[in-house]
Amino acid sequence: MLKLERLAKYYTGKDQVVKALDNINLTFKKGEFVVVTGESGSGKSTLLNVLSGLDSYEDGELQINGEDTSYYASEDWEQYRKKYIGFIFQRYNIIDAYSVYQNVLLALTLSGYPAKERKARALELIEAVGLTSHTKQRASKLSGGQKQRVAIARALAKDAPIIVADEPTGNLDQESSQKIMALLRDVAKDKLVILVTHDAEEVLPYATRRIRLFDGQVMEDKELKKPLTEERLDPAFEKKMQPTALLSVAYRNLRSMPRKTILTVLISLFIVTVFTLTYGSYVDQESTSMTSFHPFFDTLSPHRVVVSNADGSPMSEAQLSQLRALNNVQAVVSYDPILDLYVRIRTSDEMNQGSFFTSFRVNHAAALTARNLSEGRLPQAANEIVLPTPSRSVWGPDQPFNVGDTVSFFVSRDAYSWGTEFDETTPLETFTVVGWHTLASNDWVSTAYLHDSFFTDPAVVTTALSGVHRLELLYGSEVLMELASWNTMIDPTLERGQVLAQREFLTNQVIPRVNPELDVATFLETVELNLNIANAFNPSGDVVPFTISGVQTPQDPDDFRMRTADLSLHPSVLEDVLDFEIYQVALIVHDAFAARQVLQQMAPQYFGLFPYDYEDPFMAIFRVIGNLFQALSSIFLLVAMYFISYLALRNVMRSRQKDYVIMRSIGASKRDLNTITVVELMLVMVHAFVLVYSVFWINQFVDVGLPNYVRFFNFGNYIVALTLLLGMTFFLGMRFNRKIFNQTVQTALRGE
Ligand code: ADP
Ligand code: MG
Repeated sequence: MLKLERLAKYYTGKDQVVKALDNINLTFKKGEFVVVTGESGSGKSTLLNVLSGLDSYEDGELQINGEDTSYYASEDWEQYRKKYIGFIFQRYNIIDAYSVYQNVLLALTLSGYPAKERKARALELIEAVGLTSHTKQRASKLSGGQKQRVAIARALAKDAPIIVADEPTGNLDQESSQKIMALLRDVAKDKLVILVTHDAEEVLPYATRRIRLFDGQVMEDKELKKPLTEERLDPAFEKKMQPTALLSVAYRNLRSMPRKTILTVLISLFIVTVFTLTYGSYVDQESTSMTSFHPFFDTLSPHRVVVSNADGSPMSEAQLSQLRALNNVQAVVSYDPILDLYVRIRTSDEMNQGSFFTSFRVNHAAALTARNLSEGRLPQAANEIVLPTPSRSVWGPDQPFNVGDTVSFFVSRDAYSWGTEFDETTPLETFTVVGWHTLASNDWVSTAYLHDSFFTDPAVVTTALSGVHRLELLYGSEVLMELASWNTMIDPTLERGQVLAQREFLTNQVIPRVNPELDVATFLETVELNLNIANAFNPSGDVVPFTISGVQTPQDPDDFRMRTADLSLHPSVLEDVLDFEIYQVALIVHDAFAARQVLQQMAPQYFGLFPYDYEDPFMAIFRVIGNLFQALSSIFLLVAMYFISYLALRNVMRSRQKDYVIMRSIGASKRDLNTITVVELMLVMVHAFVLVYSVFWINQFVDVGLPNYVRFFNFGNYIVALTLLLGMTFFLGMRFNRKIFNQTVQTALRGE
């Protein structure tokens, strides 16, 4: 039983209050077919809207099965509409983008109808209203009469006990009108039907009761027929929507509005791309060394994994092959200390009338791929070299080497020789520049990438190993001095086996400690010295005999290779005494990510080190600050994206507002609709995410011009990226919802 007692509804205008319903007392029962008539403006629509919970009332009572509704909150009205009311509007209010079937199905889905029965019931209802042949037709293509049939099928879908129709035939021709009225009578036999019409004649044959309104008051309430009535209005099938049902509605919405969906997808693609570029550079930077200092290694290269045997023994050929066969290992450099060498050239500087060094760290060309090159090609033969692209080089555009040039570089253990200023004493090698690379330097020296043959050149190996051995000059067992790069020159221009000393060095530092009576000539003839050679793997060292064969010739002022070191020795001297066992090898990899992978898969017999990742505590603080800053900027970006996408999507969402209101009017709860909007946006976002990341992923293998960030992404990074993007989408959806749902259904409908 639906009971209205002293019910009143006011519309408050600018300067007057309209009493749309005034002291209405009516009781309706199941089985009645009530026709409501009255002039335009007499309150008919208001009456229907109020009793179906689409609009509020100000005074009096509205009872359903004896239950008072005056305390109802908006969620209670949602339930009320869902359980009791099937509404048929004059303007149909069906979703134009949906097919007939989808419109009817929607009502079933929204009322929580079990998925298995939905389809059969929808088809049954469509048949009942005579639209079977139009099942798949888009609603926008239907005639008015057909649209109203869809509306009727939809109103009946959830089997609500009250069918309310506000001038359902107002927009139809007479023939269609009659058919609709007959249909209403047939389908609504055991329901309460309340119908407003401007043409009472066409319904009177079916009506059991007639109510006439005038000026918001009941003028006439007349029983025309004695219907079979029942007191109780049984609530419709009513259940919570299942998550799958919400998802299917969201999905249907996206599919049925392709143009709006495409726009949303484009905006999402934009958001995901911009976000990924920022977040990716953050992840990339996190995997980049912030350190340019290491206590034991000069060159902290992302291409260099240092490996020795865990027990300190030399490496066998078999082990080298084993390491070479590891995944991600591009090449193996047997003597890792070579990577701490420099190649450099002294160039005269006409402006300052002096000269300066252009130095490069050395690295193995196998570390590069073709996409690291801006010009030229990778080294393919001995003495081919790839230098930095001038604009990327720390030398800047001044770097004077072009692809095709031939350059003679000295190979040295120092980028600059601070101790002996003009100490280009080390092997001189001639290279052909075959390409320019684009890899940035993480410190003040750029890197040259050299062909494999460089790393096996005996003179290069000797230069490198002399730096990791401790070489002490002894007289008997007394240490005279340590031979270091600043006081020792390895000079290939000397004769084989030759060692020359500065005269002052002999007279001031050596002879006084051996025998102050000796002159230089006698010293050279008679005195035998020793050399102690130790290294990290042989700390106590080996002592071998050592002779100084002569005194250095006076410096030739025209020779730019002025010899100022205490001792100059031909490489063969060290080749004879150094330990050439392979203790410390370098595995050459493409990047830091590969390096970490290699370390993880290395057998426990090896001791692996990735100097690039070395971080002292001081740098760790900078890293934390850097990370914090990056995280903040990622969030800031998301907030900016939120507003941009809000503006971009506002029109799409506004044009969809009508559909949401319609869903609400047929019983969707605010919560369900909230979920549907958010899920729709999230579905699009997830697709955009997958698409953008696929492109980034493919970009790893086929260069499409994007930075190769995802290489550094681990599972956690993907989760973080997706979560942040979905979080932003969620807030976006909620914001639209707030706009859509802060009105009553009727106000929203009128807004259309
Ligand atoms: P009917 O459907 O019988 O034509 P309504 O119920 O639409 O009449 O309107 C009843 C009265 O309430 C009319 O005087 C109308 O002008 C007024 N009214 C209806 N809707 C509003 C509204 N949103 N704001 C102000 N007045 C309204
Ligand atoms: Mg009206």
